[in-house]
Amino acid sequence: MKAPQTITCVDCGGKCYLLPHPDSEFEPGDSVAYRCKDCLDRWDIVLPEFDDEEETFN
Ligand SMILES: [Zn+2]
Repeated sequence: MKAPQTITCVDCGGKCYLLPHPDSEFEPGDSVAYRCKDCLDRWDIVLPEFDDEEETFN
């Protein structure tokens, strides 16, 4: 699966960019790191188990 290139910073609402990573493909449950361009906080995100946008557990 692909990790999103950017996420929204929880602290300041700015954009966080994916940090360089040796793999371009990720497994669900892998953690990937982002750096916020505004507040420079680092965020480690664990990828979800499912790669689709649908809510599986309704
Ligand atoms: Zn931020």
